Amino acid sequence: MPSATNGSNGSAQKVTFDTFQNVINGKLVSSSQVRHGINPATKKALPDVPVATQQDVDAAVKAARDAFPGWSKTSIEDRRAAMLKFAEAFKAQAEDFAKLLTTEQGKPLQFGRLEVDGAYHWLTSIANLDMPEEILEDNEDRKVIVRYTPLGVAVAIVPWNFPVQLAMGKIAGALLTGNTLIFKPSPFTPYCGLKIAELAQSYFPPGVFQALSGDDILGPWLTAHPGVDKITFTGSTPTGKRVMEMASKTLKRVTLELGGNDAAIICKSVDIKTVAPQIATLAFLNSGQICLCLKRVYIHSSIYDEFRDAMVAHTRTLKVGEGTEEGVFLGPVQNSMQYEIVQTFFDDVEKQGHKVAVGGRTADSHGYFINPTIIDNPKDDSKIVTEEPFGPIVPILKWTDEEEVIARANNTKMGLGASVWSSDLTEAERIAKHLEAGSVWVNTHMDSSPIVPFGGQKESGIGHEWGASGLKHFCNSQALFFKKKV
Ligand code: NAD
Repeated sequence: MPSATNGSNGSAQKVTFDTFQNVINGKLVSSSQVRHGINPATKKALPDVPVATQQDVDAAVKAARDAFPGWSKTSIEDRRAAMLKFAEAFKAQAEDFAKLLTTEQGKPLQFGRLEVDGAYHWLTSIANLDMPEEILEDNEDRKVIVRYTPLGVAVAIVPWNFPVQLAMGKIAGALLTGNTLIFKPSPFTPYCGLKIAELAQSYFPPGVFQALSGDDILGPWLTAHPGVDKITFTGSTPTGKRVMEMASKTLKRVTLELGGNDAAIICKSVDIKTVAPQIATLAFLNSGQICLCLKRVYIHSSIYDEFRDAMVAHTRTLKVGEGTEEGVFLGPVQNSMQYEIVQTFFDDVEKQGHKVAVGGRTADSHGYFINPTIIDNPKDDSKIVTEEPFGPIVPILKWTDEEEVIARANNTKMGLGASVWSSDLTEAERIAKHLEAGSVWVNTHMDSSPIVPFGGQKESGIGHEWGASGLKHFCNSQALFFKKKV
């Protein structure tokens, strides 16, 4: 077994956090070429990680295919039991994972801990789901059932914003349904993912759960590989389109969880003091780097000024800094590429002469820090309204007419999430039911659950993760007809 060792009480296995290797066929595998991530708070290099080769990909796919017959025939109860033991081992090292997550991703430690807790919750909740056969017809003549069988070898590809929780949702869904899985972390945040896979080797047969870290060519190698049956992808919409194009060559099944441009509609009846701080929080959580962060805030014109001022006041209280510092709410943006993308939004704000209610461009520093910024009522066709910055900068906009604001909220190719905020629940429900998004909330935003299907409409994605529907996306659906009289 890899470097996992018995815990002090002899129960949970443990990993150490000094070296990082790929996991292929139950073994830790290094590579001749290495690369490293960067701590975004200090711009300092982190430890080396392997750069997987095409041979590594072939070896992992072969091992996954070899492991598939055994794992898919293992009963769901036994698969669940293995997953739950693995979950306890992960939980036993939760603090180590949270610290590593803050180091590689940049998020404040308090949020790193929440992400690791969330990952455990997702893993255990999904492991406890069932995949019952569905009886569609049962009479004297015949019985018709639909059953769900695993697809084969799944590849999970995740981004750098929630590298642990997003990974665990995919790992849980793939393994419970009897698929084998190759996990590919983002090159920006490979560390926790490799250690999760290493830890898992003590709980699953070789080839059931593997991990490959590499550079930009690794994703295309995996999505092109004829031995892969399913891609479960979370990332940007342009990359999602490339994944789907590659997958089409062998008709691999795809689940795509992509970008968002979530709107919140704030009605005039809201309690401004309570709601405005929540709206600012939901725009700037994880430094704006969440697919479900608020990216457009439509405020009723009769309360606009007061609401803006309350948002600004709350935003001024949010501390920006290194994730290990006490009380920090916004860590750095995760990487230089994303930092530069966010700068293009500041460039446009300056070029268009938009009003900045709070924040603004941040001076260069030792890390990729950006102050939370609110743009005051820009035009609907401006870059900050139409595109996803994926950083701590958000536009607020005025509305007066209900139909018009619904049309404006829906006027995007994205359809991930949207919310309505109102003390009048009839009004809120009326508006909510017209919003084109995979998740719609009233008086909240971003709530999610491992037992509730999650997915985007329009160019925000295809398919679902999590919940019973998420499990079905890892399966063939088979109609089985029994004729009772021959
Ligand atoms: P990205 O699309 O650049 O990268 C995501 C992953 O895809 C990485 O692991 C990357 O290495 C890999 N990849 C890149 N090119 C590939 C290719 N051609 N084939 C296969 N894999 C490839 O996204 P990012 O910058 O890491 O993440 C930010 C984006 O992710 C934002 O748009 C955000 O909204 C979105 N996101 C969506 C969700 C969701 O659930 N809908 C959740 C989190 C983030």
